[in-house]
Amino acid sequence: MKSGSSPQEVQEVSDRLSELGYMVNPIFGVEKTVIGAVGGPELDKIEAADQLKAYTGVEDVIFITKPYKFVARESRKANTVIEVGEVKIGGPEVVMMAGPCTVESEEQLFKTAEAVAASGAKVLRGGAYKPSTSPYSFHGMGVAGLELLREAARRFHLKIVTEVMHVRKVDEVAEYADILQIGTRNMQNYEILREVGQLRKPVMLKRGMTAKLEEFLLAAEYIASGGNENILLCERGIRTFEPYTRNTLDLSAVPALRSLTHLPVVVDPSQGTGRRELVPPMCKAAVAVGADGLLVEVHPNPDHAIKDGAQSITISAFQEMMPELRAIAGAIGRSMQSDASPVG
Ligand code: PEP
Ligand code: MN
Repeated sequence: MKSGSSPQEVQEVSDRLSELGYMVNPIFGVEKTVIGAVGGPELDKIEAADQLKAYTGVEDVIFITKPYKFVARESRKANTVIEVGEVKIGGPEVVMMAGPCTVESEEQLFKTAEAVAASGAKVLRGGAYKPSTSPYSFHGMGVAGLELLREAARRFHLKIVTEVMHVRKVDEVAEYADILQIGTRNMQNYEILREVGQLRKPVMLKRGMTAKLEEFLLAAEYIASGGNENILLCERGIRTFEPYTRNTLDLSAVPALRSLTHLPVVVDPSQGTGRRELVPPMCKAAVAVGADGLLVEVHPNPDHAIKDGAQSITISAFQEMMPELRAIAGAIGRSMQSDASPVG
């Protein structure tokens, strides 16, 4: 329905659909009402759509063959560009998000933030709340870590992406984060998805390590159907039979998602490979296949990192990689910052 369509117009369309034999399901969004209609006679669908297009209040009639609607490519012709202040993700610029896996100390975080910002990163990553396979591992600095992220981001003009692990922590993390990260283990935590769907802040949803693309998009649909369409999808590798790499980075997911959805796609080759030497080549490949952003773990001393040292690259490896990524971005008609100069 058009924005501002009246309850009566919505009712008229719903009534007509019921008469035609459809099960009718209106979804009342912040701006728009979408009337879902399922189960009608297959043969009459085109005629029914033609009729309904003539109703006042109807903006468009879209055939839904996919189980997700808001995030589907069909629902929006243009790519969605997520605006994080002046940083735009999903536009011509490929955005680098970098930082340590985990916030460990002021020195570690600030050193990394300063270096990645100088090499062109726009967003600082770092976990203050960390999911861990073992209950005995380090689980992050919590609020103290969030405070450090805020200070580092302020000082080096970066935005913050950090993980929220629990529905009770959404408000707290949202106070500090510019982008809320939902980790692979929580991709199907429907309570958190609904909760961040109530925010109007960008959310970076990581693909579940065993999730099919359809399940991934349905998880994003949970967020979008709550009214928050500021969603970045992050491919971070999936479980396969191959143990050499921590996960198998599914780069074919990038162009596949680009055709299935209007949402931007970010690639995380750090969790995706688990091996530091594979991170720069996979970053290059990710840019080449059309990623809108990269999420990379960088540590001043990876061998002493509390978490994910094996997949964290050094500051010098990051500095070497950035101009190469910029060259690849340029070759496919996009841009990427590889130093601290303003975008342009
Ligand atoms: C991370 O980004 O450090 C992380 C834990 O990611 P994932 O949820 O993809 O494992
Ligand atoms: Mn990590």
